[in-house]
Amino acid sequence: MAKESIKMDELVAFTKRRGFIFPSSEIYGGFAAVYDYGPYGVELAKNIRETWWKAMVQNHPDIVGLDSSIFMSPKVWEASGHVGGFSDPMAECKQCHTRSRADHLLEEIDIFADEKMSDEEVGGLLRDYSQKITCPKCGQKDFADVKSFNLLVKSNLGSFTDDGNDPVYLRGETCQGIYVNFKNILDTARVKVPFGIAQIGKAFRNEITARQFIFRKREFEQMEMQYFVHPDDVTKTYEDWRQKRWDYYTNDLGLREENLQWHKHENLVFYCKNAWDIEYRFPFGFKELEGIHNRGDYDLSVHTEHSGVKLSYRDPKTNEQYTPHIVETSVGVDRTFLAILTDAYTIEKFKKTDPGGKISEESRTVLKLPRKLAPVKIAIFPLLRNKSDLVKKAKKVFAMLAEDYNCEFDDNGNVGKRYRRQDEIGTPYCVTVDFDTLEDNTVTIRDRDTMKQRRLSIDALNQYFSKNL
Ligand code: ATP
Repeated sequence: MAKESIKMDELVAFTKRRGFIFPSSEIYGGFAAVYDYGPYGVELAKNIRETWWKAMVQNHPDIVGLDSSIFMSPKVWEASGHVGGFSDPMAECKQCHTRSRADHLLEEIDIFADEKMSDEEVGGLLRDYSQKITCPKCGQKDFADVKSFNLLVKSNLGSFTDDGNDPVYLRGETCQGIYVNFKNILDTARVKVPFGIAQIGKAFRNEITARQFIFRKREFEQMEMQYFVHPDDVTKTYEDWRQKRWDYYTNDLGLREENLQWHKHENLVFYCKNAWDIEYRFPFGFKELEGIHNRGDYDLSVHTEHSGVKLSYRDPKTNEQYTPHIVETSVGVDRTFLAILTDAYTIEKFKKTDPGGKISEESRTVLKLPRKLAPVKIAIFPLLRNKSDLVKKAKKVFAMLAEDYNCEFDDNGNVGKRYRRQDEIGTPYCVTVDFDTLEDNTVTIRDRDTMKQRRLSIDALNQYFSKNL
């Protein structure tokens, strides 16, 4: 069943209050479109990366991992076309000087710029519809001519390179590191086409607009996989990957299917043979979560041409030599994070019975995260913080469970309040050590979703959690 829609402001406030996401450099007034992950955020992000890695690398004998550097030779970005063409059309409001993406302003009035259009042509469209398009900040309809804005972030490392003044870039996407290592991996990793290379890492873009929280950051993290295939097999392989990636979102991440949809790109750039996005229903509408692209032989060909090193493959059986085609799957950690939070954030009413039998209705905020994604798996409470026997015993239980799970020890406030705090961060289980524990070595386990409690011996906890987590 679809949930009531969540407001973005509510989610932003929640993630800050509970230590998931902080604005960067906040004590200095923040830094636009840059965010930091706090104690729970870093755990959730780690679990997202691990789930992706397991689905893509661990479960695929034909996919190997890579961690290429953020800095690369500037020649890479010349060859890939990013120096010349990695730009967005920028429209600046003449009144308040707010800069916006011209194509996004058009989308607001349901005009979709053709992907083949140059930034100038998008500018032409903006002029055609100038009476309808308003500045998102001040509401005026007065924009300067659209300019092409290159998204590559420059660094000053360039001034130390041998050949002088070439700027060095912080990578704009992680996949270029995969293409330039194609030959290294082919020569060393005992892979045979078809095979894939997967990588998780930071990417940087000078995004024009900075209004959608972690959906559009200037420093973000990508999880990309490039799958190399024989040209005759690429169409089928592409369809296989589309299916696998859809299943990953619904099964591995457990996102609600009604919050996902496909978006097909029309009028693709010349080298791209097919492109679909998986879109998620974020609080601001359906938007791209992942791109799945059939990139043909473009990437290996341009790097062969520019580097002079042949990036091709000889089939050991048929001796055929060819440039493999590439199917790419590309998703951001941050957009996955936002999708998961949007899906999981729930305000729920429930009935509570007090010891006298009186029933009252209460409400709780609960993050219904899949267990494997929960930042904290088990919270351990001594019933009372000032009873040293209880605290000592609870610390022992904590030490035992912390060997295998990320646990939290909480002795602050009453147990009901502790449950609410753990519900908010999505902790699947709470374990309470009470006076009976000291007698019979049993504890209370409380389940986040059912809110049911059961009594279990401490000796049985490891087995119970290894089955349920
Ligand atoms: P958009 O059209 O939204 O700008 P894109 O098509 O430029 O995205 P790609 O270049 O295909 O995005 O990047 C692949 C993935 O990387 C995206 O699907 C998204 O999940 C993630 N991503 C791209 N840009 C950003 C960003 N600025 N902040 C966070 N994640 C991003």
